[in-house]
Amino acid sequence: MEFGLNAEQVLIVDTVRSFVENEMYPYEEEIERSGMVPEQLARDIKQKCIDLGFYAANLPEAVGGGGLNHLDFTLIERELGRASMALSIYFGRPSGILLACNEAQKQRYLYPAVRGEKMDAIAMTEPGAGSDIRGMSCRAERVGGDWVINGSKHFISHADIADFCMVWVATGEEQTPRGIKKKITCFLVDRDTPGFTIRPGYESVSHRGYNNSILDFDDCRLSDEQILGETHKGFEIANDWLYATRLTVAAAAVGRARRAFDIALPYAAQRKQFGQTIGRFQGVSFKLADMITQIDAADWLTLSAAWRLDQGLSANREISSAKVFATEMLASVTDEAIQIYGGMGLMSDLPLARFWKDARVERIWDGTSEIQRHIISRELLRPLESEEK
Ligand SMILES: Cc1cc2nc3c(=O)[nH]c(=O)nc-3n(C[C@H](O)[C@H](O)[C@H](O)COP(=O)(O)OP(=O)(O)OC[C@H]3O[C@@H](n4cnc5c(N)ncnc54)[C@H](O)[C@@H]3O)c2cc1C
Repeated sequence: MEFGLNAEQVLIVDTVRSFVENEMYPYEEEIERSGMVPEQLARDIKQKCIDLGFYAANLPEAVGGGGLNHLDFTLIERELGRASMALSIYFGRPSGILLACNEAQKQRYLYPAVRGEKMDAIAMTEPGAGSDIRGMSCRAERVGGDWVINGSKHFISHADIADFCMVWVATGEEQTPRGIKKKITCFLVDRDTPGFTIRPGYESVSHRGYNNSILDFDDCRLSDEQILGETHKGFEIANDWLYATRLTVAAAAVGRARRAFDIALPYAAQRKQFGQTIGRFQGVSFKLADMITQIDAADWLTLSAAWRLDQGLSANREISSAKVFATEMLASVTDEAIQIYGGMGLMSDLPLARFWKDARVERIWDGTSEIQRHIISRELLRPLESEEK
């Protein structure tokens, strides 16, 4: 076993850390206040990321990406997690689902996404279908040789700045051992497609400036050319990627928790009450001990799950464990960091209250904590249940 980083990994971490500190931290408070990212700032971050050679670092070299393995990419996500998501989105990581593009689609979507010319968004969730995503009602019907889509999606992250969306819609039904299930197909939809509208979503307290949108389809007509992967096989192309995305949520939680800890620790060592530094009170020092223990545990869970992916080992359970543990850890660490600071912890002079608010959504998106626990327990129980039969 090897727990240290090699020289290249140290360089990756140091480079991304100084990038977020220099190019993102200075703008965070203004974005928190205004709820928007100035276009020029977004362009600058994207260009600097391209110049550094980090744009699309997650995608294979064969398609023009950086070709990083899961572990190295997780190290990047951990550093980006320290910064505002409204800014780190421009440190481009196009979705790996785009690797399912056929040759024509690669020219139109994948390669421009890798070059930073086009931004993608992922649209699965609907008002009536969140965790139970197969219960979706947005549907595509065959009309002539085309598909006609009707319905809505909501909570779609950064669709406001996306050039195209990958949209999962019902294209039929099938009988399965668990009853009738919808067949799902993924479509690539350009933002200017007639019958397709992207409108502002809800105002979230978490991650201000990183907006969610509502997508409306009103007799939106698409040809077969817009199908990503095979008809009725929409989830087959998305599943691996969905697990890998959960790992990035875990990694970001670790990075943000360490930033909160790095703010709280020196304060505990310097702030005096009752004639001594508060870190000398066990009520505070034990908090620090618990915080760092939780952060390290989440870090190792996350990195070891990434390592498993790189070894070609099954990692679904481990990724869900990392996601649920790291996001719950983040909630607790940001809360305790505020407690250590006392009243000042809640003031916007410090980023702690922002981290605490931002932390809340991490237990909800990319599969709620309950759904992660469902996945973990299913992976444990299923083999035993089938043995009994
Ligand atoms: C800010 C934001 C951005 C998002 N971005 C995107 C995006 O870009 N693309 C996208 O497609 N989606 C996106 N989502 C959607 C997100 O993935 C869903 O919110 C999430 O999957 C939960 O769905 P829901 O909100 O409808 O809650 P529900 O599924 O209605 O769940 C409500 C509660 O019931 C619990 N529950 C549900 N089923 C079970 C079960 N079987 N067992 C135990 N408990 C259960 C849940 O854990 C939760 O506590 C985003 C959401 C938010 C808030």
